Amino acid sequence: MLAKMMDRPLLISSLIAHAGKWHADTEVVTKTIEGPVHRYDWAAAEVRAKQFAQALQRLGVKFGDRIGTLAWNTYRHVEAYYAIAGIGAVTHTINPRLFPDQLEYVVNHADDQYLVIDLTFVDLVADLLPKAPKVKGVIVFAGKDDMPDVSRLRNPICYEELIAAETGDMDWPSFDDNSAAALCYTSGTTGNPKGAIYAHKSTIVHTLSQIAPDCMALSARDSAMPVVPMFHVNAWGVPYATAAVGSKLVLPGRDLDGKSIYELLTGEKVTFTAAVPTIWMMLLAHMKEVGGKLPDLDRVVIGGSACPRAMMETFQNDYGVNVIHAWGMTEMSPLGTANTPKRKHADLSDTAAVDLQQSAGRPLYGVDMKIVDEAGATLPNDGEATGELKVTGPWIIADYFNIPEKAPAHAEDGWFGTGDVCAIDPDGYIWITDRLKDVIKSGGEWISSIDLENVAVGHPKIAEAAAIGLPHPKWDERPLLVVVRTKDGQDLGKDDVLGYLEGKIAKWWMPDDVAFVDELPHTATGKLSKLQLRARFKDYVLPTA
Ligand code: AMP
Repeated sequence: MLAKMMDRPLLISSLIAHAGKWHADTEVVTKTIEGPVHRYDWAAAEVRAKQFAQALQRLGVKFGDRIGTLAWNTYRHVEAYYAIAGIGAVTHTINPRLFPDQLEYVVNHADDQYLVIDLTFVDLVADLLPKAPKVKGVIVFAGKDDMPDVSRLRNPICYEELIAAETGDMDWPSFDDNSAAALCYTSGTTGNPKGAIYAHKSTIVHTLSQIAPDCMALSARDSAMPVVPMFHVNAWGVPYATAAVGSKLVLPGRDLDGKSIYELLTGEKVTFTAAVPTIWMMLLAHMKEVGGKLPDLDRVVIGGSACPRAMMETFQNDYGVNVIHAWGMTEMSPLGTANTPKRKHADLSDTAAVDLQQSAGRPLYGVDMKIVDEAGATLPNDGEATGELKVTGPWIIADYFNIPEKAPAHAEDGWFGTGDVCAIDPDGYIWITDRLKDVIKSGGEWISSIDLENVAVGHPKIAEAAAIGLPHPKWDERPLLVVVRTKDGQDLGKDDVLGYLEGKIAKWWMPDDVAFVDELPHTATGKLSKLQLRARFKDYVLPTA
């Protein structure tokens, strides 16, 4: 028997329609690429999104067409998110930090019809266009007076002129909410990037879970600033979630250094923010230098890679900001887990509470998970057994976009193999030890490179650290710790590092050597690139080998 409920599709346009109508005068603030701070409200954002939607239709953009964006977190990029998906086209957010051949690959693989770009990326796109013959034109996010030299762009269009020709007087069209809304490619440490193509429905369901109290707890009382880029898994969904709840939205543009972020956090009274640890390292360093304070900031979501304990303690103890450690993947829209305590944790001591926060969190409603051994057998959730984490749920991709063969990650029906190794405790908290391919295999046992790194960066003279396994005749692999010293920690030596680690890690985890470098390689999404690091150290011989 069927129910008698209204069958309203869950479309992305409904988010901005809600914000535009019921949170009309709530501010959306952007540190623009041109320089000044731009302010308007959700009502104006919706009107301009509709103007852009009408303009795209005038340009001939059709249902299902992919439109690429190469842009920072700005109000225009938010308008594009809603305009493109709103008419049933697909917002393909492109990570500008991809290598040129990866950029070429994703634009052609996605079959992008138009590119919508920030001023910053004119040269990048001009170099790309000869290798992307099917792109019909390039829309530049700028007003007429700010238009750069676009002579090398194919069919360049000024965004403000384009939308000024439209009224914004339209109703968002209705269609099947299983239609594609957004496309995001993984940064691809091996092989070509792979596309995750999200549906309207999957995005809305993800949004509803994301705003809940045990995840981001977003509300109309928040001033929310996604620092995580809109080209990295839709800024973890924050541009959607803020519209759903009608919070103030603060967009940092392209200046993600500690000083710029600090100014926005305090100036815009930001209560909620989210980004990868690298960003917070820069912020905390800046605040230490200037004696900064964060009186308004209530919580910060840290994910994308493991959040070091020292960073958590600094946020919480020194600045009174609650850290929400979260885990997710491009393939998961991206949220899988968030770390908030349960009722039974109310009486934990401060130290025990931070111990618990080292976990990347527990599953959001909507995501189910399990760990499996190498043969694919399910392991117990006892907090001890570690295996590959597999996930299933309505906002997890069923397969990659437009590749002929089923990806190995989807070998088991109904489950996605994350490639992450973890233990799951009886309360559902996941304890990630590594990426399957980064784990250090010593004498048949696994050493967690993530744990080693997290302990190492607790040393005041260590800015960043990476652990990799190097060949060893007796143990198969042994860890090498590669360290970047802080500015004032240049006298730090190997013995200091090993001395610091002693007692904090298992004896047999102790790195066989420590190498000092000026910089560690990172991927396009700001993660440590172990692949490049291993290549760099491939001829390195451990003193114990
Ligand atoms: P991406 O698709 O670029 O967002 O990368 C997803 C991967 O980032 C995951 O598979 C993990 O390996 C890693 N990751 C994300 N969040 C965390 C976390 N909290 N702790 C450790 N690794 C993480």
